[in-house]
Order: sequence, then structure tokens, then C-alpha cells
Amino acid sequence: MKMPSIIPCTSSNLASKHSKIYQFINCRLVRKGCIIKDDFWIRDGKILNPEPVFYDERVQADVRIDCHDALICPGFLDIQINGGFGYDFSSDVDNLEEAVSKVSHGVLSAGVTSICPTIVTSPNSVYHQVIPKLVKKAGGLDGASILGIHLEGPFISPEKKGAHPLQYIQEVEGIDKINDVYGCLDNVAMVTIAPELPGAKDVISYLANQGIVMSVGHSNGNLEDGEAAVNCGASFITHLFNAMLPFHHRDPGLVGLLTSRLICKPVHYGIIADGIHTHPAALRIAHRTHPEGLVLVTDAMAAMGLGDGEHQIGQLKVKVEKLTARLVGSNTLAGSVVTMDQCIRHFVKNVGATLVEGIEAASLHPARVMGIEHLKGTLDFGSDADFLLVSDEGPLKVLHTFIAGECVYSAPDAPQLTSTYHKHFSEK
Ligand code: ZN
Repeated sequence: MKMPSIIPCTSSNLASKHSKIYQFINCRLVRKGCIIKDDFWIRDGKILNPEPVFYDERVQADVRIDCHDALICPGFLDIQINGGFGYDFSSDVDNLEEAVSKVSHGVLSAGVTSICPTIVTSPNSVYHQVIPKLVKKAGGLDGASILGIHLEGPFISPEKKGAHPLQYIQEVEGIDKINDVYGCLDNVAMVTIAPELPGAKDVISYLANQGIVMSVGHSNGNLEDGEAAVNCGASFITHLFNAMLPFHHRDPGLVGLLTSRLICKPVHYGIIADGIHTHPAALRIAHRTHPEGLVLVTDAMAAMGLGDGEHQIGQLKVKVEKLTARLVGSNTLAGSVVTMDQCIRHFVKNVGATLVEGIEAASLHPARVMGIEHLKGTLDFGSDADFLLVSDEGPLKVLHTFIAGECVYSAPDAPQLTSTYHKHFSEK
């Protein structure tokens, strides 16, 4: 298995370890829903407002970096990713550290700077082992930030199990059962639950009150179930259209949440824009109905990043051809193998959305879902300097990925970043 190599930028060690100010010039920025021509400033791993630097501190940049007209946008957040590069978070329990390291490192080339490793429906023993070990972690040269675990199951509908193993699906019963099954919630950021299960709404309130993002999905529920869940604290729909009742004009199911007037706040929804899990027409319907809520997720599994061919994933043999992974000898889809940059390209092309809309669906919107839009998902002043230099000549191409102001990935054919160093001056 070949991992994308990290090629240090020529202006390497851009991390502002000594409070150096970095000014990116000859660039355009994705800011507030637009592309603007401006310089981009960072210091101490944060995005800097240059005005007080000029007028109050009276200093100028220590280092200037020529971006050669690249577009700078926020790093992407993938809040549903099961694994990749041969590793699966739900089954590689004994070498979980390695799995997290390889995946969080591998996604940098797709511009992903934060992830929620996702655990599918599993036996209790897996939760008890994985949840304490899969710790939240700031990103850097080692890989994307770990925002917390997304637990997808086991409290889901057996009728809408998708690829989840039926024998491990459980009934909710009550709060004590939740604590027994998961063991500990310390590193959990998000839980997907079927809202129609008896007791689910109490659990949604209970977990949402602990700051866990609650999502409805893998559900046989109708719109009323979804509305009640949202009014109890759910805020997200897991992979819209997949593993839920299809939209019906008299019984719209969870899809109806996109236009519901009976919920306390608008929902966000994940969507797998790989051209396989969601038809382009369905993608367009979702986007035109509720563009602000659309969140691109890869839902990628272990074969992501391995390329075409036959791969052994856990107990299963999977054949990957282009963007499709199927169990060997069958037509059964074995999950997505798409990367986030591919999702954005597919979304922009097939929806007729702007590139900015595609970028925001992978950055600002998931950051809002996680309640961290003041830190990640934008190029706002004061936010973490998790950003990308991308080429937008033709389809989006990730050139350089930065986390906390440090260059953590450069595409092999990306133009080198050229830096000039200035004598620091101060008139204090
Ligand atoms: Zn799923």
C-alpha cells in the first residue's frame, strides 16, 4: 500500500513558532461566501487580522509567501469516515493507533484537515476498547485533527441497516443501556440513531445535553419521528437518502426535515456525493431545497486510497474499480472509496453549484454541525490556520494543505511556494 508522501514546502516550517507573521501574497481567498483578491496573514497558528498589526503593533510580515495566484480556502472536515488506506476503525481494534495515524495522514492530500472517525454497529466489546483509545487530538504534521468519534449505531433500524451487521443492532431501552453499550462517552462527538426506536428521543435529549451532536439515520422513521428528534436536540441527518424511507409525497420521511416548519431550528444533512450513493438529480433536489444545510461526507471505508484492484478488507474481499467498491463475486456495494476533493468536484459539476458552495459544504457547514465554526471551516480572523492552497483552473485541485499554520502536505506537482524574509521592524 502506497501512502501519499509528504513533500515539505520550500518555505517549510511555516509554523509561527516564534510568533512570526506570515503574509501570503498573490492569492485569492474564499471568505464570506465569495472569492476575493487579498493577502492572507497568519501568526501563532491562527488567521491574523492585519489591520491592528499595521496600526497598533506597527510591524510587518516576517515572511512573505508567493502563492502564484492560488486560491486559499479553509481545510475540509470529514465528519463521517470509516477508514481508508487498508484500515478500518471498527475492526482494526488492536492497531487502532496505526489506523488513525495512516488515515488522518492520508486524507491530507484531499485537503481534509479534521475528521470524525466513524464506528459502525459493533459488539459492545469493540466500543469498550475503541472509545477510550480514539482520543480527540489537534492536527499537525502527523495528520488531520481528530474531532471526536462518530458512533453510527448500534441503535438503528434493522430494516435500514445498510452494511451494518444485523446481529449487533440493539434496542434503545433506556439511558443506562446507552452507558452500558458505549462504556464511556469521553471521546464521542456524534451519534447516529434511528429516532423511531422506543426510548430514542430520551437518549437524543440526554446525549445532546452532553454536547454530543445527535443525528438521525439508518431509520425507518417518518417525518414526525424526525421532527420530534430535532425538537429533542438532534441537528443532523446521516447520509440523506441512504438507509432511510424514500421521499413520498404523502409520507416524506426524514427527507421532509429539509423543509419542515415544525422543527425548532434548520437541520444539516450529510450527503455522499460520489455519483454512486446519490443520484445527481437527488443531489440537486437536496441542494436546491436546503443549500445551507448540505454537508459533504465521504463515508469512506478501508479501500479508499488503495486504487483499483482486489483488496482484502477485514474478512471481506473487495474489488475497487474507479470509484466503486463491490464485494468480490457480487454486485453489493461495499461502501464509498471517494475522497473529499473528489466529492467536491462531483458536487460542483453535477449540481451546477459554484466552487465556493462546494468548498463551504466541506468546510463551513460541517464546522457548524460540530459547533466549531469559530475555530474551523472559515478563513475568518482568529480561526485556526487550517487552510488549503488550491488550483481552480478547471476542477479543484489541492496543491498544499496547512494545519495550524504549518504546511503538512504538498502535491508532488504543485508549484513550489517561494518565500522572502524581511527584517522585523518595530518602532515601539
Ligand atoms: Zn451509514
